[in-house]
Amino acid sequence: MTNKSGSRKELVINFILQLLNSFGEDISRDGLAETPIRVFRMYEELLSGYSQDPKTVFKTFKSNGYKDLVTLTNIGFHSLCEHHILPFFGKIHIGYIPNGKVLGLSKFVRLTEILSHRLQTQENLTNQIANALEENLNPRGLIVTIEAEHLCMSMRGVRKSDCITKTTIFRGLLKKNTKLVDQFYREINSQPSK
Ligand SMILES: [Zn+2]
Repeated sequence: MTNKSGSRKELVINFILQLLNSFGEDISRDGLAETPIRVFRMYEELLSGYSQDPKTVFKTFKSNGYKDLVTLTNIGFHSLCEHHILPFFGKIHIGYIPNGKVLGLSKFVRLTEILSHRLQTQENLTNQIANALEENLNPRGLIVTIEAEHLCMSMRGVRKSDCITKTTIFRGLLKKNTKLVDQFYREINSQPSK
């Protein structure tokens, strides 16, 4: 363990104890004995994306003449909203038109994991995925869409549990070519909500 994560551990544990104490919880009771260290380990995992560089996943290979739409559907993800540090989670769908380079399918999953394991807004997550793909794959067209439920909406505030937020970014050819966009939505089996 590095010094940095060593002092982080102490900080998080003390913070959790103070937080629980301030709400009147008896922090010496048995049931809570391991809670602060568990919370620390949980955040180490959920925020692990800060120590990882999305660039490391981009080992591309040649598309061998394939020039049509590649669609990846239903990439599950969990992230934490930067406003409340509560989970938002759902599915990411990506479509792109290769420009000589393609990326292994598991690398898309790795990319979404790195970026979602940071504090995020859904809009920024969508943007960051699109930017990383654009910079490193340079596709002729790109679409990234995320549908997610936000616990800060369903368990507090307006308590809308059936509300799904959709965000979509179009780049290049997919900005103009409605046939390709239709094909993408047919393939992910859902229609854009306009
Ligand atoms: Zn929130």
